[in-house]
Amino acid sequence: MIHRLVSLLILGLLLSGCEQAAPKVYQQQLFAFGTLVEITLYGVGEDQARQAVQAVDAMYQQQHRDWHAWQHGLLTDLNQAIAAGKTIRTDPSIIRLIRLGQGFERSSGGLFNPAIGHLLKLWGFQQDTPPQGPPPPAAEIRHWLDTAPGSLQVQIHGQEVSSENPAVRLDFGGFAKGYAVGKAVELLRSRGIDNLIVNAGGDLCVRGRHGDRPWRVGIRQPGTGGLLASVEMENSGCIFTSGSYERYYDYEGRRYHHILDPRSGYPATGTVSVTVLTEDPTRADAAATALFVAGPGEWQAVASRMGIQDVLLIDDHDVAQLTASFATRVHFEQPPAAIEIVQPAP
Ligand code: ADP
Ligand code: MG
Repeated sequence: MIHRLVSLLILGLLLSGCEQAAPKVYQQQLFAFGTLVEITLYGVGEDQARQAVQAVDAMYQQQHRDWHAWQHGLLTDLNQAIAAGKTIRTDPSIIRLIRLGQGFERSSGGLFNPAIGHLLKLWGFQQDTPPQGPPPPAAEIRHWLDTAPGSLQVQIHGQEVSSENPAVRLDFGGFAKGYAVGKAVELLRSRGIDNLIVNAGGDLCVRGRHGDRPWRVGIRQPGTGGLLASVEMENSGCIFTSGSYERYYDYEGRRYHHILDPRSGYPATGTVSVTVLTEDPTRADAAATALFVAGPGEWQAVASRMGIQDVLLIDDHDVAQLTASFATRVHFEQPPAAIEIVQPAP
């Protein structure tokens, strides 16, 4: 969280540095989904801008309540019903997220698993305070693997939801932020705002331009909160990063982070961060998580199955693996130890 705040401030500085000479930029921060969300609008009157951001804020507070994986709300009610083997009527937004999650589970070959909530809880990543102490006992992880929960075991009939597997616990943490960023962009555009950035802790979407030049945005440096690279956004697009440095704890000299490999039940290894650029923020968010799980050398096949062309992966030796298309867009501010240009799988 600290890193997030620092990196966000740096991104903020980067932007406001350009903006002092350009008074047409309106910038406001909100707090939602456990992170600072910064909204930057270009060429909009102050009243219109303030009202639009207020509307985004109201939407976000509602979504935060509805989709929270452990604070009581629609999703925890749904998970409780599934655990009890019951059918429950839920909200259309939850149904939409389940269907999206199922699509990502399918296209990632199960590396992205939105039914991983119970495993996240075992690891202590479903609580407000950072986890402490030893990792969960191997037998409990083994048991989770044996119960094999997956979101494709969730049945939807109209607004009624159930699952044949009571071990399913839905957790939208890997893609709800992307969905929410997309919803904010839609809302702002419906109010006639065409030039904007919605930045949720460094995960962002851009539309339009900054006056007569494109928006330039930053990619976070893993762990330090500094700026790894910048990208000029010629067209609309979204950049999402998943990093092992976002939520983790150390125990007896080992680090355990929050992106779990559903094949092993343990935190995914080999990767420090994955950044993807694509049009659809929900897919960008899910793909960043899925490619992180896939890891160095394996992510290309998953990227191609998920329809992602622009990828930057930093491995745990500080080697950057980039697709050729993304390499033409990325400008490194802090060069990594080595850069490998990798062709995506056909
Ligand atoms: P961040 O932007 O915070 O780095 P990510 O987009 O990488 O977050 O998502 C990490 C979150 O996704 C975790 O906190 C957890 O809620 C969820 N998650 C962890 N592992 C998986 C997985 N294999 N599949 C789907 N969701 C996951
Ligand atoms: Mg994600």
